[in-house]
Amino acid sequence: MTDTQNQRPVSNHAGDDAATLPTTYAPAEVEGELYERWVERGYFTADAGSEKPPYTIVIPPPNVTGALHLGHAFQHTLMDALTRRKRMQGYETLWLPGMDHAGIATQNKVEQQLAESGLSRHDLGREAFVEKVWEWKENYGGRILGQMRRLGDGVDWSRERFTMDEGLSHAVQTIFKRLFDDGLIYRAERIINWCPRCLTALSDIEVEHEEVPGELVSIRYGEGDDSIVVATTRAETMLGDTAVAVHPEDERYKHLIGRTIKLPLTDREIPVVADEHVDPEFGTGAVKVTPAHDPNDFAIGQRHNLPNLSVMDEHGAITVHGPFLGLDRLEARSAVVGALREQGRIVAEKRPYMHAVGHCSRCHTVVEPRLSLQWWVKVAPLAQAAGDAVRDGKVEIHPKELERRYFDWVDNMYDWCISRQLWWGHRIPVWYGPDGEVVCVGPDEQPPAGEGWHQDPDVLDTWFSSGLWPF
Ligand SMILES: [Zn+2]
Repeated sequence: MTDTQNQRPVSNHAGDDAATLPTTYAPAEVEGELYERWVERGYFTADAGSEKPPYTIVIPPPNVTGALHLGHAFQHTLMDALTRRKRMQGYETLWLPGMDHAGIATQNKVEQQLAESGLSRHDLGREAFVEKVWEWKENYGGRILGQMRRLGDGVDWSRERFTMDEGLSHAVQTIFKRLFDDGLIYRAERIINWCPRCLTALSDIEVEHEEVPGELVSIRYGEGDDSIVVATTRAETMLGDTAVAVHPEDERYKHLIGRTIKLPLTDREIPVVADEHVDPEFGTGAVKVTPAHDPNDFAIGQRHNLPNLSVMDEHGAITVHGPFLGLDRLEARSAVVGALREQGRIVAEKRPYMHAVGHCSRCHTVVEPRLSLQWWVKVAPLAQAAGDAVRDGKVEIHPKELERRYFDWVDNMYDWCISRQLWWGHRIPVWYGPDGEVVCVGPDEQPPAGEGWHQDPDVLDTWFSSGLWPF
């Protein structure tokens, strides 16, 4: 095939010499050009002043760092078919494209780039780093958009948006302020998923659970008749235990409930508490309670008013004074077991135990449940409204039998941690004053000025903004 043949238009007008057409259709040679022609002629551009009935789809914004995968291709095919059909039916159609800023993923890309020159984001400082990320976005962030063109997505490129655009940032701040004023956003110390490498809180979907072989160790707390055996795969967390919990009806431990026992390797006495949620059939029927390092234990701690004792820093190193100080959590694990063994406290060990361990989806580090002061959205009233919309028939789910799955989801939500210890993203619009003031600033308001005022350093979870995208 010659170049001249390549450049011929595909349409076979009457009078064209059919013999010069290629014998097989080669989409790669014609689609790109055809697509650009459609875009140039404004076939996908919506007219806001049109008299026709409107039909609009907003694209679920893909990550700026990403490449399209099969799921996108499937989703885009559906949206494309729907908008094109409506357009032919006489609707004014808009399929709105855009991307989200993918907080942690994008920050990681730029941090990796800096690391190649031996730098960290702290060497640059916040402002310069954020500028670097914008640069990265301009240079590498458009891959997914090129792929959408290649797929032939009939989107209105004149309206392309990005979650960090001014308009969307304004919306983010507006909604934050509204939820804050309504008491639906609050700050509290809770257990979150923490990546000791990325040094940020992660959402549940940023944690990948993998079955990995662990080792169950049984440890004896207390002395003689007053001793209790607990089992754990994370022996190092025993340094932060503040109780042992047993079932209230468990005859083996009834005499100990309300009393204290000595916690090995420390000089602390911890109480034995009775808790309905402990399964007396599982293991010894007694569980160690580490409220600052385990979400279930945190819940037990709340029920029994136990202190939350953090024993690791943000990097996962032990902070308890003594022989384990400064050890990484994994080194500490074997060191703690070794010390317990020396004291004759190990009842059983080296029992293989497969268990699900959370890994950071960005860097694969083992996630540490960590007690930390974060911002939260009170989800229940919002989820209730989302459930009611379907219960009241305002929104229909097709096929209908999937309603149950929807209700399982919206009726079982817990509060959402929205703060991230990152620099790339929408910064939390809250200022703290020198006398403990906490002021949430709306998008058209001036932040408080003067000595001692500073803005919260964290940014919002990317989903806080991409979730507002349709509005
Ligand atoms: Zn990580």
